[in-house]
Amino acid sequence: DVRHGPILYMEDVTVSFDGFRAIDRLNLTIDDGELRCIIGPNGAGKTTMMDIITGKTRPDSGQVWFGSRHNLLRLSEPEVASLGIGRKFQKPTVFEALTVFENLELAMAGDRRVWATFMARLDHEGRARLDEVLETIGLEAERDRRSGVLSHGQKQWLEIGMLLMQRPRLLLIDEPVAGMTEQEMHRTANLLNRLAGQQSVVVVEHDMGFVRSIARHVTVLHQGSVLAEGSMDAVAADSRVREVYLGA
Ligand code: ADP
Repeated sequence: DVRHGPILYMEDVTVSFDGFRAIDRLNLTIDDGELRCIIGPNGAGKTTMMDIITGKTRPDSGQVWFGSRHNLLRLSEPEVASLGIGRKFQKPTVFEALTVFENLELAMAGDRRVWATFMARLDHEGRARLDEVLETIGLEAERDRRSGVLSHGQKQWLEIGMLLMQRPRLLLIDEPVAGMTEQEMHRTANLLNRLAGQQSVVVVEHDMGFVRSIARHVTVLHQGSVLAEGSMDAVAADSRVREVYLGA
């Protein structure tokens, strides 16, 4: 992959809730096409950080840039999403009564009216994209099954697929493997590794074994700022990280 340079840049970001600094002079850079894991104890500020990137929470101070052109702090939540920043929350939220295919078809419509998707069939390009996404998430065989009958892992992959229909440039994914079987975790690791490179992926995750299996680059958050950054082995060996997080 020949793309370089940061896709996301956060500088000195601070936000307080009732005087409590949930994010405290946070500095974070995500490179284009990178897969980054964010770890940290409960209350470290991981969710608030994601909320700031997507425009759900406004920081009190600091800068948040998407590429070099888009000052995210000037944009509304829908405007941020339309730049190609997709977010997946922990629990899968697929339309259970619809098939896998229909869920992806709906996701293609994005913020356009839902009805438009049903009225106007997918064009050639949309169809090609749908097939490509089905292959990426490994659900070709489930294409016409009602998504309500899928396994937990399959629903999570479908929801990632729904985000992919919009051709995002940055995916923010919250605890993707919570509740998954070992085998599903393994497949999710493969999926995330394949996604990175096509787009940047930021994963917030608690499962250390999983983080170790996917992340080349880990950021440890603590009390709203970056405590350590580097390979999983490097951060796990850091005495400050062991003190606050790994309990050693
Ligand atoms: P994490 O996701 O790492 O567990 P959070 O970002 O959810 O951490 O929370 C960071 C801190 O900010 C916590 O102490 C939490 O209680 C506090 N916090 C988060 N959102 C709010 C809010 N809307 N109002 C008040 N406090 C909040």
